[in-house]
Amino acid sequence: MSKSKKVLLVTGGGRGIGAATCRLAARAGYRVAVNYASNEAAATALVEAIAQAGGEALAIKGDVGSEADVLSMFETIDRAFGPLDALANNAGVVDQRARVDEMSAARLERMMRINVIGSMLCAREAVKRMSTRHGGKGGAIVNISSIAARLGGPGEYVDYAASKGAIDSFTIGLAREVAGEGIRVNAISPGIIDTEIHASGGQPDRIERMRRVVPMQRAGTAEEIAAAALWLLSDEASYTTGANLEVGGGR
Ligand code: NAP
Repeated sequence: MSKSKKVLLVTGGGRGIGAATCRLAARAGYRVAVNYASNEAAATALVEAIAQAGGEALAIKGDVGSEADVLSMFETIDRAFGPLDALANNAGVVDQRARVDEMSAARLERMMRINVIGSMLCAREAVKRMSTRHGGKGGAIVNISSIAARLGGPGEYVDYAASKGAIDSFTIGLAREVAGEGIRVNAISPGIIDTEIHASGGQPDRIERMRRVVPMQRAGTAEEIAAAALWLLSDEASYTTGANLEVGGGR
């Protein structure tokens, strides 16, 4: 087991964009911590597939919206892999299609807790480990936002769009805060990507409906987002921080 390999945590890494990021990262030589919320079968199958391909990965259950879970997840990574080098803040949820005047406080609280506070808590723990101010050796963070932040999601999920708007501001602020401490922080704003998130929000036909409004006339793949994430985390992006890379087929 090589101790020199870089360590990456991908939140929500068991399925969709997160899983593609884990697969690509393992191929690039990272030791990958695959966080998941409840779908243990998906995360475990992914870890096994990575191991079969000669990579190294570990599945870790935890709700990013729970501070206790986040603390325990980072401690597990410290013990298993050693100091973290990179974080992909990917875990995120949508909810059923609704107007703002129909949204309950419980829905809003869940949306912000997972999408916003979850990413901020994970970034906090990553900075504590990576910042030269805390004795770390630097690192990189990529936050998965959405082009919904600028489209607003009217009639569908304004709460989700607003949660991604918060991620955009957080990316700029944190990037500037830790730029002198060896940490780069960037965001990716995907357009419509073919994953199970649309069905989880009660819209299994969303890709088919929406692809016509995309200039490229198709949804993107999880792998197309993963490729952008891996670039932003790599040394090839060494002068890129506070950026928000749109990967949305021109939309
Ligand atoms: P997905 O296929 O629904 O997968 C979501 C992943 O997040 C799953 O692994 C899930 O874990 C995990 N997750 C959910 N809640 C969590 C929590 N509280 N704590 C930890 N993990 C949690 O979604 P996706 O499409 O890949 O989306 C990934 C990211 O891309 C999200 O931030 C999403 O907002 C963003 N995005 C997606 C699109 C798109 O069109 N797909 C577009 C723009 C932005 P389990 O497997 O255990 O359920």
